[in-house]
Amino acid sequence: MGAADTSRLRIGLGHDTHRLGPGGPLRLGGVDIPCEHSLIGHSDADVLLHAITDAILGAAGLPDIGQLFPNTEEENRHRDSGEMLRAARDKATESGWRIINLDCVLHLERPKFSPHKDDVRTRIAELLEIGKDVVGIKAKTGEGVGSVGRHEAVTAQCVVLLTN
Ligand code: MG
Repeated sequence: MGAADTSRLRIGLGHDTHRLGPGGPLRLGGVDIPCEHSLIGHSDADVLLHAITDAILGAAGLPDIGQLFPNTEEENRHRDSGEMLRAARDKATESGWRIINLDCVLHLERPKFSPHKDDVRTRIAELLEIGKDVVGIKAKTGEGVGSVGRHEAVTAQCVVLLTN
C-alpha cells in the first residue's frame, strides 16, 4: 500500500472559553437554551460557534476569529456568531476548501445538553450548509471542579477536516 495523498486534506483545531453571568438564555451553537445564566462576551459569546469558526479558519490557513472580528470594534458588539461562522466558511470556500466533517466537545456543568443536542447539530449544519451527519458534538461536565465544574465558564473545542 502506497502512502496516502494528504495534500488535499487540512485539519484545524479551535478552542474557546466564555464566562457565565446572570440571566438567560444560554446561546450555544446558534440555539438559545433555557438557563438561568448566559455567556458574557463582546459578541453574542457563542463559545461553540467561536471554536468551530477558529477551527475552519485555522485549517484553511486564514487569520483567526480575533483578527477577523476584533473585540475592540463597536460593530462586533453583540454580533451574531452565526454571521462570523458563515464568513469563515465563505472565506475557506473562496480559498478552495470544503468541510468533510467536524467534531466538537462542549464543557459545561449545566443545563443538561442532551435534550438540545439535535437542535444544535441541525443549526450548525444549516449555517455551514453541510449534512448533519458530519457534525459531531458531545458534552462533558466539569465534575464539579474547575471553572466549568463551578458553573463559572463554558469551554468548547472543535476539530475540522477540510479538503480541496
Ligand atoms: Mg469567543
